[in-house]
Amino acid sequence: MTESTEFDFPMTIGGQRVRGSARIDVVNPALGEVFATAPDAQQADLDAAVKAARAAFPGWKATAYNERRKVLGEAAKVLTANADELARIFTLEQGRPLAFAKEEILGAAGWLQGMGMHSLPVDVTEDTDERRVEVHRVPVGVVAAIVPWNFPVLLAFWKISHALLAGNTMVLKPSPFTPLAMLRIAELLLDVLPAGVLNVISGGDALGPMMTAHPGFDKISFTGSTATGKRIMASAASDLKRITLELGGNDAAIIMPDVDLDEVAQTLFMGAFYNTAQICIATKRMYIHEDIYDALRDKLHGLAKVMPVGDGMNEGSVFGPVQNKPQYERVKGLMNEARELGLTVLEGGPVPDKGYFLPLTLVDNPPEDSRVVTEEAFGPILPLLKFSSVDEVVERANNSEYGLAGAVWSKDIDQAVAIAHRLDTGTVWINQNLQSTPMTPLAGHKQSGIGCENGLHGLLEFTLPKAIYIPK
Ligand code: NAD
Repeated sequence: MTESTEFDFPMTIGGQRVRGSARIDVVNPALGEVFATAPDAQQADLDAAVKAARAAFPGWKATAYNERRKVLGEAAKVLTANADELARIFTLEQGRPLAFAKEEILGAAGWLQGMGMHSLPVDVTEDTDERRVEVHRVPVGVVAAIVPWNFPVLLAFWKISHALLAGNTMVLKPSPFTPLAMLRIAELLLDVLPAGVLNVISGGDALGPMMTAHPGFDKISFTGSTATGKRIMASAASDLKRITLELGGNDAAIIMPDVDLDEVAQTLFMGAFYNTAQICIATKRMYIHEDIYDALRDKLHGLAKVMPVGDGMNEGSVFGPVQNKPQYERVKGLMNEARELGLTVLEGGPVPDKGYFLPLTLVDNPPEDSRVVTEEAFGPILPLLKFSSVDEVVERANNSEYGLAGAVWSKDIDQAVAIAHRLDTGTVWINQNLQSTPMTPLAGHKQSGIGCENGLHGLLEFTLPKAIYIPK
């Protein structure tokens, strides 16, 4: 056990600080330089974390629901009280500018409180003179939670808030690209959560597969790419672990001709580029009606040219770097390919030379089958696509293996709702974007996921139904 220095955060296993025997590097993406290291959990560390979570499970499960809710409320206060310190760690490892990083920490605290508004239902499926049949919801057991680097804290708390409230215990693994904020949070929560209820371990690429193969887990809750989701589903099959998969998206926004361009342009822009476009539910294909196409394209390009992109530690930066080198290379490759194919690439303003920065980039009406349209870029390149009729745009929007979310923009709300019902996605926003609440499920349709998070549906994913037949 060691006391932590500024960024030398331990893992939290069974209520203990554990430094581990090996390290991984953590890079500041605004500089492209290693600024910290984190524990690289080995099989023995994982075994210890699973053992601790298993040992804590009976006690936490037996803790009254209201008491668990209270404990999570206390955890929310710890996040809020330490939001400035956590935001700084977040920005240094993730890249997102400080003010927005703090929003994520406070958002996670809000989730811990918001989930507490749910209660677990008991369904009575029969109540006759002979018997009463009750269906209770019981926790699944020990959950392996695996999260990505784009929202490393909020997406962790989407899992923690539901799973712990429902009475499960957890071993959580942040992304190797962004381990520090969650390691620090677990350390801060040592005084609040009973030992073993939440264990946080970090590690390199080997750790995720080690977790999904571990027989000590009852459920895997995963957020990340569709490719990894498929591997996890295969791995979970060996002993039929329950799974929830929140995967990739290629969300379409449909902009009808009656919108007020001055009113919507900036919100549309942020819906695509917030967090440097590294959001599962970001607009990744923007379908604009032909009557307003040129005018809206020019407005969006105007915004791309003036929006400040820079180191998140500098005041005034609105957009940070791409979070990691492989992703930077991938998105840069898409940008280069678009140019090589002779597509019209509309580049944003200048970006710093150092670090993983890319200009906020639009592609002017590329062919529907180009990679920039069909693939999830997950970086600052957005195709603008021209359409002329509702039937045509609905068909094009639905022509994707993904089905995460989408948006319709129009002054005619009835028409927008009618279009929303025709989109094959788990969420549709009308005249808004990037919205999610603790009370509302986010469910990936098609290859965007299995199951859902948030809302009562999300809470129930961390439970199993248990029927009890009671004679009278
Ligand atoms: P990723 O799939 O590469 O990694 C996600 C996590 O899985 C990381 O912690 C990683 O270490 C781990 N991992 C990688 N391979 C594994 C394996 N074989 N077994 C177990 N764990 C493994 O995803 P990423 O690049 O970190 O995140 C970006 C992707 O996440 C995008 O596709 C994005 O759309 C998606 N995402 C989805 C949601 C959602 O709610 N649907 C939210 C955010 C991000």
